[in-house]
Amino acid sequence: MKKRPQTSNPFHPPSPGPRIPVRILEPYPDFSNPTPEQCNAVRDDLLAADGFPTQFADHRRKRAMRKNQTRTIRSSDDERGECENKRNDTVLDGVVNLLLSQNTTETNSARAFLSLKSTFPDWENVLGAENQILESAIRCGGLAKTKAARIKCMLKELMERRGDFSLEYLHDLPIDEVKAELSRFKGIGPKTVACVLMFNLQQDDFPVDTHVLRITKSMGWVPEKADREKAYLHLNRKIPDELKFDLNCLLFTHGKLCQSCSKKGGDQLTGISHAPCPLTKYRTRTTKN
Ligand SMILES: [Zn+2]
Repeated sequence: MKKRPQTSNPFHPPSPGPRIPVRILEPYPDFSNPTPEQCNAVRDDLLAADGFPTQFADHRRKRAMRKNQTRTIRSSDDERGECENKRNDTVLDGVVNLLLSQNTTETNSARAFLSLKSTFPDWENVLGAENQILESAIRCGGLAKTKAARIKCMLKELMERRGDFSLEYLHDLPIDEVKAELSRFKGIGPKTVACVLMFNLQQDDFPVDTHVLRITKSMGWVPEKADREKAYLHLNRKIPDELKFDLNCLLFTHGKLCQSCSKKGGDQLTGISHAPCPLTKYRTRTTKN
């Protein structure tokens, strides 16, 4: 597939050279929703109706711990190193996990990641592995050839540029620089970057996937014609930082499972069935997206 020119994409500022700060980009400067009050109300109503999704509870705990540490000690390098060592998943683990999750189910990508980690003792062995062996280790996640090539490419570039297989340095960079760094790697698009920021770097960011896009459109939080990238820029400007993580996890899970809000009528096995759905009162339009 032909690669899009990087300069046309607000998520991929040209590098090196002068960059337009991503944070100042706002595709809909005259569109006032969502207000902080709307964000608060939807977060509270979803929390009361659905509870916080267990799938993201662990990330929420780590996030609270990390924010607390940053606030109270602004740790020295030694303390920081100790803190990193206690983490049982690294930023690189998170990025590879997200790469494997593209175009497949959560169950299959989780199996592929576990298989990868149990087949190879470390990233050096992944990079040095024969392609067929690596592809076979991640085959249950689908698109094995493409994903194996992307993982190897990222590991090779990391070793050449940084001298080790680690992305922990991203913790010390501002959001815009993290975006520029991760966007260098093939297969890492805006949604993956936003997920790394939110889940692995504990930053305040608000990824927009199909569920979040559909549900925010139905509440009139973004214009009807907004695509994911523009919705991402707009919502990240409008949603208060302290609400982004909870609201994103709640909207994603609700949008996937609620029989009223889901495009497919929700997951019939694990679905949430509300009478009425807590978001009905916020819905201003019906969207097919
Ligand atoms: Zn609903």
